[in-house]
Amino acid sequence: MDLSSYIRNVNNFPKPGIVFKDITPLLKDPKAVNQAVAQLYHLTEKKNVDLVVGIESRGFFFGTLLAQKLNCGFVPVRKPNKLPYATVSETYALEYGNDTLEIHKDAIQKGDKVIVHDDVLATGGTALAVCKLVEKLGGEVVQCNFLMELSFLEGRKKLSGHNVQTIIKY
Ligand code: 5GP
Repeated sequence: MDLSSYIRNVNNFPKPGIVFKDITPLLKDPKAVNQAVAQLYHLTEKKNVDLVVGIESRGFFFGTLLAQKLNCGFVPVRKPNKLPYATVSETYALEYGNDTLEIHKDAIQKGDKVIVHDDVLATGGTALAVCKLVEKLGGEVVQCNFLMELSFLEGRKKLSGHNVQTIIKY
């Protein structure tokens, strides 16, 4: 099964000139979802991880499914003021301005082995900020995995030093 056939290109979203990779057709098909989870699982060489950390919001779908398959916990990283308990945060630069992400301060224990997951690796700024959050809490990022990689944006360069795995490359 070619998973890329379940990704829809949406022109000019969220801004003119951007071609957005829409995963909703993939989410609607249980066989395609199963295959995506199986492939993410297959990319994980070391299966003895403690946590999958998923990035709001599209990183929650496959992050939780992958955590279930790995028989480990799932931790959400969210935009500011969404998490109910005490948090630590990381602010990172966007093309114009900044963005901030938060994680519960007790979500990761020192020495936990963590997979960081999101749907898309673009410039890598988001995933790098999440790696920093994990490390602030004493976790070890053993892999960053994504459904899709927009190679021309060179996110892998930003994440150099991390084990980066992706299923579909553009
Ligand atoms: P980055 O920080 O790597 O530049 O951007 C990655 C973040 O933006 C991810 O959280 C991802 O969900 C979102 N993103 C950027 N481009 C796309 C896209 O074309 N499709 C989807 N589904 N998400 C995108």
